[in-house]
Amino acid sequence: LFRAGADIFRLNFSPGTHADHAERIAIIRALERKVDRPIGILADVQGPKLRVGKFGGGRVTLQAGQNFRLDLSPTPGDVRRVQLPHPEIIGAAGIGTTLLLDDGKLRLRVIRQRDDHLETEVLVGGPLSDRKGVNVPDVVLPIPALTAKDRDDLAFLLEQGVEYIGLSFVQRPEDVIEAKEIAAGRAWIMVKMEKPQAVENLDEIIGLADCVMVARGDLGVECPPEEVPLIQKRIVRACRQLGKPVVVATQMLESMINAPAPTRAEASDVATAVYDGADCVMLSAETAAGQYPYEAVNMMDRIIARVESDPGWRAATDANRPEPRKSSADAIAAAARQVAHTIEAEAIATFSSTGSTTLRVARERPDCPILGLTASLETARRMAVIWGVHPFVTVELHTMSDMVTKAVRAAVQEGFAKHGDEVVVTAGVPFGTPGTTNALRVAVVK
Ligand code: PGA
Ligand code: MN
Repeated sequence: LFRAGADIFRLNFSPGTHADHAERIAIIRALERKVDRPIGILADVQGPKLRVGKFGGGRVTLQAGQNFRLDLSPTPGDVRRVQLPHPEIIGAAGIGTTLLLDDGKLRLRVIRQRDDHLETEVLVGGPLSDRKGVNVPDVVLPIPALTAKDRDDLAFLLEQGVEYIGLSFVQRPEDVIEAKEIAAGRAWIMVKMEKPQAVENLDEIIGLADCVMVARGDLGVECPPEEVPLIQKRIVRACRQLGKPVVVATQMLESMINAPAPTRAEASDVATAVYDGADCVMLSAETAAGQYPYEAVNMMDRIIARVESDPGWRAATDANRPEPRKSSADAIAAAARQVAHTIEAEAIATFSSTGSTTLRVARERPDCPILGLTASLETARRMAVIWGVHPFVTVELHTMSDMVTKAVRAAVQEGFAKHGDEVVVTAGVPFGTPGTTNALRVAVVK
């Protein structure tokens, strides 16, 4: 999958034991050593995914128009009632609240609320089986984005060392603040936008996030499907503005779970995400459980490369370029792009200890590759999520001339430049102090 084009691997912490995840992390780290390229790991914690309890016969079929009760009793359910083991939800719902079951396939409306149960009317019926998911799009639920299981998983994966933590079902800015406090810089927080409440607080939440995922699976359950493309564009635009890496996820090449080629609509969907300005596109079941994982990654890689070779994509990207903020780092980033474009440089090399300068250069969407040089392997791995960046680990350097020499050598070694080519180098002295990017050089490969 790496050779087919994958830069990051996501581990879904909903299923699986810590031993399973430790084994997968070890496989990815071994691959990284073998191919000698930094690879990112996204550990996606489950969050407060709400589920009904179990049924006596494993499943029932609800009919539109009938009543159905959700209560706190663990007694196996039947066609009249089932457990909803979340007292907070029962408390937060009101008459008229919509409950969506099994990815939105069934729809219930609350007609009576008591301390220990909700009486509902079935608006859209269908089969319902054990432990199916429940979505409550109308109300801000009084539950944090981190459950007890998530906290336990976080302790494990921060110990293991991963690059990004996927934070599921974020509703409020405080959810992000709390996760960042726990991570304490040891991993970037990737906020999954999958609740309408998060979309309402878009700018504040994205401002706090390290990176963002447009999690269209749950988003498409909580919001009408026709809203999803617009929300995707809004989120990607906001991320581009703030220079936060953004991933577009879910059902991108869904039919490739069972087929070696995608539908035309799926190819278009991946292309649209790239035209919108996403940093990454993500596969889920296609690679986790599908029959054609290699073909799916390869197809995605081809679509991305094709779109980014389109002059129309370049024109739209240039037209939507956000203004630099008032800082020397942004001024240098904007100038680096401009200079690289004018002299047709082969690469822009950035030096960054935290990745922040590299992020600002990527925000400019230059028309040559970005070499992300850093002395930190963790930072190099994190850079895998940033658009257009080829991360590269180097030793600590202290003078501008050492940096220029190193940048040129790395550009040649990694196949970006050859004799006579030019490389634009951004750096800050003293090196290793975040936020000091203040120098721009043009170097010729000798
Ligand atoms: P999930 O998140 O795959 O963990 O549910 C992505 C989404 O909801 O789209
Ligand atoms: Mn989800």
